[in-house]
Amino acid sequence: MGHELGPLGEHPTQTLIHLDRLTHNVRLIEQLVGGRPLWPAIKANAYGHGADIVAHHLTALGHRTLCVAYLQEALALQQAGVKATFIVLSATLPEQAGAIVAADCEPVVCTADMAAALSAEAERQDKLIAIHVKVDTGMGRIGITPGEVGQFLDYCRNLPGLHVHGLMSHFARADEADKAHAEMQLACFLGVAGGAKNDGKPCLHMANSAAIFDLPASHLDAVRPGIALYGLAPSADIINQRVRDLLPVLEWRSKVTFLKEVPAGAGISYGHSFVTARPSLIATVPIGYGDGLHRSLSNRCTFLIHGRRCPQVGRITMDQSMVDVTALRGQAEIGDDVIIIGRQGGQEVTADELASTLGTINYEIVTAIASRVPRRAVGDDARRRRKQVDLSRSVNC
Ligand SMILES: *Cc1c(COP(=O)(O)O)cnc(C)c1O
Repeated sequence: MGHELGPLGEHPTQTLIHLDRLTHNVRLIEQLVGGRPLWPAIKANAYGHGADIVAHHLTALGHRTLCVAYLQEALALQQAGVKATFIVLSATLPEQAGAIVAADCEPVVCTADMAAALSAEAERQDKLIAIHVKVDTGMGRIGITPGEVGQFLDYCRNLPGLHVHGLMSHFARADEADKAHAEMQLACFLGVAGGAKNDGKPCLHMANSAAIFDLPASHLDAVRPGIALYGLAPSADIINQRVRDLLPVLEWRSKVTFLKEVPAGAGISYGHSFVTARPSLIATVPIGYGDGLHRSLSNRCTFLIHGRRCPQVGRITMDQSMVDVTALRGQAEIGDDVIIIGRQGGQEVTADELASTLGTINYEIVTAIASRVPRRAVGDDARRRRKQVDLSRSVNC
């Protein structure tokens, strides 16, 4: 066993990004949507998985339209040599229009001022800018109201240099067992989209991961999967059992850097929130809340060492945490592999387990992994990738 550190003496705490599992999840989603284009969400550093690694792999698989949240996320990936069209999902400000047009990004637009600013910049830079008009059908975040769609599309179509590539919406409750609200949102979207079809039919897109699994009628012209790509379920309430076929892409690991025998009654870490009840063997692992391991997990999580669940003890500090390895006496050594998220032996710690301890969702656990933690791509299936066709060019979009 043992993962090799990189040649430059890399920090032992790393995330391994299993590209073969990413490919597996992409294939599963492709099957579910019957070959419609996938426009993967790789915002927030690909949900903590490393946006450059994930974007390069997705484009190699033929998916060349990628969704980010910030314009700067797109610019960084362009710099890193990713050849793709970037949809910027969050609302942007008119003052960003020049940079958006210069970068050939496709912004999501929901105000007349933004549409006008993009048009003016497109004219100034002698370009055509493609936009996606967002309708709020019940998410309550951004978007024009359903009643405004016809007028807004007319307004955009009359602006020079602007092309309405997409009409889109977003689900608020597609991950719940009761799909009533999601179905209402879909019906609302289809109602207004029907009227938009007359001239220059825009591409209709709405489905997130939950809707990809549970609401096939929402697949429309393209889908925007996020969490499922990374092998995590959108919630525990997904009905479609194929959600069980997803494979977690991220593994979070480290190594034991220090080991000590302490007597009963020894206080461990800041505040002595843990005091040994018996003579104990305590290991130190160089991972802390500065790496994105939430401090509120202190004394409430387990690390895997030698295939065994070992309780984390004492406060998680910024850079280091302690773990009780008394059960591994005679076995544990400095340099031993430690799994924070992943499998070892017959045991597994999942992002879902950490999320449920913290009362949050798996999305937040992986997205919180700090940028200082190196992401290493493993399991590259480069030979298979080269045979893939470009799916993003199929259908209408
Ligand atoms: C993040 C996001 C998605 C992807 O959502 P998942 O639940 O991760 O599949 C899709 N569309 C929009 C607008 C988003 O912000």
